[in-house]
Amino acid sequence: MKTGWNLDMSYTRLPETFYSKVDPNPVVSPKLVIVNRKLAESLGLNADVLETPDGIEVLSGSRAAEGAVPIAQAYAGHQFGHFTMLGDGRAMLLGEQMAPDGTRVDIQLKGSGRTPYSRGGDGRAALGPMLREYIISEAMHGLGIPTTRSLAVVETGEGVYRETKLPGAVLTRTASSHLRVGTFQYAANMGSTEDVKALADYAIQRHYPGGADEENPYLALLEGVIKRQAALIAKWQQAGFIHGVMNTDNMTISGETIDYGPCAFMNEYSMSTVFSSIDAQGRYAYGNQPGIGGWNLARFAEALLPVLHDEEDEAIKLAEAAISAYPREFSESWISGMRAKLGLYNEEKEDEKLIENLLSLMQKHKADYTNTFRALTFDRLKDSSLHEIPEFVQWEEAWQERLVRQEQTTAQSRELMRTSNPAIIPRNHRVEEALDAAVNGDRSVMDQLLNVLADPYAHSAEQEPYTAPPGPECGPYQTYC
Ligand code: AMP
Ligand code: MG
Ligand code: MG
Repeated sequence: MKTGWNLDMSYTRLPETFYSKVDPNPVVSPKLVIVNRKLAESLGLNADVLETPDGIEVLSGSRAAEGAVPIAQAYAGHQFGHFTMLGDGRAMLLGEQMAPDGTRVDIQLKGSGRTPYSRGGDGRAALGPMLREYIISEAMHGLGIPTTRSLAVVETGEGVYRETKLPGAVLTRTASSHLRVGTFQYAANMGSTEDVKALADYAIQRHYPGGADEENPYLALLEGVIKRQAALIAKWQQAGFIHGVMNTDNMTISGETIDYGPCAFMNEYSMSTVFSSIDAQGRYAYGNQPGIGGWNLARFAEALLPVLHDEEDEAIKLAEAAISAYPREFSESWISGMRAKLGLYNEEKEDEKLIENLLSLMQKHKADYTNTFRALTFDRLKDSSLHEIPEFVQWEEAWQERLVRQEQTTAQSRELMRTSNPAIIPRNHRVEEALDAAVNGDRSVMDQLLNVLADPYAHSAEQEPYTAPPGPECGPYQTYC
């Protein structure tokens, strides 16, 4: 039986400066923790074979897959505003799986050992954080938010040393590519104009094929990335997702969410929500995400300057015009998503105010973000403590009046709300509970959680127990890289 690997490596057709070839790093005793059977199948991979000792060897980075020429990718990036050289310090790209549906999907191992870009790091990852990425990325996929996905997690049988000794693991991540804003920054700062051009041509071909026919393909690329990132960050805001480390190396060209380190979903609605222990200043707080997205995209535009136009002045003008469209792109995406959450099909000028009023009431009264929209969806606000607040009752009346001013029926509004407001998000206390059990050898808690997160809009009875916010005993939540 064959695994079904059908790997190409278009990335290695870029100039050599963009990557380094790496060798497999065998681990002591690889053991499969989880494999994503549905995802495997959609990639043309046989999950049964992935689960055999040979399959697990590949997923642990101990042995290259058939046809793989593993590489580590070079990139740079602004980390908390400071520019630095980076690169895959603990990851290797096995190749691009040519899926049965014709798509090209990066297969990357994370935690697979040292590379030329490891700097002081050990190249390894711990089991807990790799399973956490698995759960949250799959939850994002369920929510309909563009994201990298998780194919498998394998324990290495080796310890990794952080504050304490932890079990090591390798995550197999899939992505429509691993091109980052930071890859362009690397080309622009550490390479030549030819390198920027080669990378931009590659990105256009891979993600914005229509751009090649535009008068200025590089401007089309810039505008395309701005659009997709604006739409992505709007979706984050709508789901209450806080990425936690929006460095430019963690922003993709494809418009997928990437690098689930200190991310988390918020419970009570608050613009200043920060979970990450390393983000003391709140640079990447919930309410700052749209603005940071714009900042990162300006760094992308800067990196593209040498190819946007032969004359620098003209290139800057083009870049500035493109970047100035971002706030509008973001707010259009955001408002249309928020309208859907409130069951609104048509557009009225005052909608933004209606939405803002609801959010500021939620902030003031520390309302649970997800559950407030659920209560509105199922007309259960009356049963909640929010209904004791006169301002909320007034807001609801205004919303009801607004709903009446559209053609659609109440049933149609409810249907739109049901498919726009998830029953569940991966709440931190539930994720922690699943990880604790899994790290101690019991995978059942995680399996159940993954099962209910797969379709968060099902609003099924089995999801009900997962809808409760954490109790006071959980205390404030903190995440680590
Ligand atoms: P991240 O915070 O995951 O986006 O990673 C930032 C940079 O640090 C990337 O270049 C990673 O490859 C690198 N890095 C993170 N952890 C390690 C590690 N344990 N060993 C080597 N490099 C690492
Ligand atoms: Mg090289
Ligand atoms: Mg990263």
